[in-house]
Amino acid sequence: MLGESAGMLAWTNGKNYIALDRKYLREQFREGLTGVIRVCSVIAHEYCHPDCSDDPDVHTHGLDFYERFHNVILSEQYAGMLSYVAVKAYTGMVKQAVKANISLGRRHEHSDRLANELEAVE
Ligand SMILES: [Zn+2]
Repeated sequence: MLGESAGMLAWTNGKNYIALDRKYLREQFREGLTGVIRVCSVIAHEYCHPDCSDDPDVHTHGLDFYERFHNVILSEQYAGMLSYVAVKAYTGMVKQAVKANISLGRRHEHSDRLANELEAVE
């Protein structure tokens, strides 16, 4: 889900939702595939906080957190999620921009070709 925060990129209650800051998400999508992959990493980070509450002061990074994060990042499920979500989000963004005739800027001048190549690999 999306929300707005004055200082957090993302947050969770550790039970049934992970929220991303709308402004952060917009900024990351401007970075293209690099930003999409960064968002996936932030989601993995939040996923590793099963003991969080809605109170941001409860947010801790103890040894248990780092062990979970390590295991998640190295898991096949994460690699599968990352490749699927990152490619889908990136290619979707590029296709929508091309369809709407919106320039993604000089940084993304080859993004339509890259999006097609990534989709072909899937
Ligand atoms: Zn955290």
